[in-house]
Amino acid sequence: MLHFTDIADIRNYLNERQLEGKSVGLVPTMGALHDGHYSLVKAAVKENDIAIASIFINPVQFDQKEDFENYPKTMSSDFSGLEKMGTHIVFTPSLEEIYPSTLNLNLSFGSMEKGMEGKFREGHFNGVGIIVGKLLNIIRPNTAYFGQKDLQQFSIITCLVEDLSYDVELKCMPTVRSENGLALSSRNQRLSKKGLDEAALIYKSLNLAHDLLRKSYSIAEVEHQIHNLYEKSNLDLEYFAVVDAVSLVPLTTLAQKTALCVAAHVEGVRLIDNMIISE
Ligand code: AMP
Repeated sequence: MLHFTDIADIRNYLNERQLEGKSVGLVPTMGALHDGHYSLVKAAVKENDIAIASIFINPVQFDQKEDFENYPKTMSSDFSGLEKMGTHIVFTPSLEEIYPSTLNLNLSFGSMEKGMEGKFREGHFNGVGIIVGKLLNIIRPNTAYFGQKDLQQFSIITCLVEDLSYDVELKCMPTVRSENGLALSSRNQRLSKKGLDEAALIYKSLNLAHDLLRKSYSIAEVEHQIHNLYEKSNLDLEYFAVVDAVSLVPLTTLAQKTALCVAAHVEGVRLIDNMIISE
């Protein structure tokens, strides 16, 4: 596995490979890798001549300094995990390499970031858009892989790619979960055993909402029941949203594809999850 930290070096290397006609798959990450990340890497390795994972904890997308500073870092096990998966290149640029000078650019995604993560994490998608935009320019991948766990992020990146005409295919991969249904997340490392057990309520709540909708409960009734469920628990619900899975607009009746989205705090750690249901 090759390791690059400098933009010029990885560009030079990839320019030559791309001239030879090699296809490139990119998996952008913030490290502390788990099987969710590795499922994206596996697809990138299988579908491309060159699979690249980037690891960069992007300060611009954090709204809380503390969350940025406490973000887990497991670089050496990340490297061995990536190597085992057959990753060809790992790209770990420094903060100075990515942001050599003060950022003046500010991206806004209109109605797509009005709700959910965009509403509760001010400036988050500006940061996501900037780092993904930069990585797509540096690597110029044929395909870039993202997880459905961050559904709103995927919609935002789709918008970025369409609006700025990036020549890349985006793939949204299914959420990988632990046995109790909890979506794998780097932040789970900050939970105690008790917290991990309690956090299983998030997936349970999505399944409950799905069941109720199948039984023709209205969205308003479902929202009410989900709020009740969290009130009786140790979790602190930030939002439960029923939105159109494509436009992310909040729904009062089911769409062709409806996304149930949750953000909740467990032991002070903020976790998100979602489920897409078809009509
Ligand atoms: P992160 O390191 O949290 O920025 O995540 C990097 C990529 O991995 C993003 O596209 C995430 O959506 C994806 N990802 C994170 N957790 C999971 C999971 N449990 N299953 C599938 N993909 C995931």
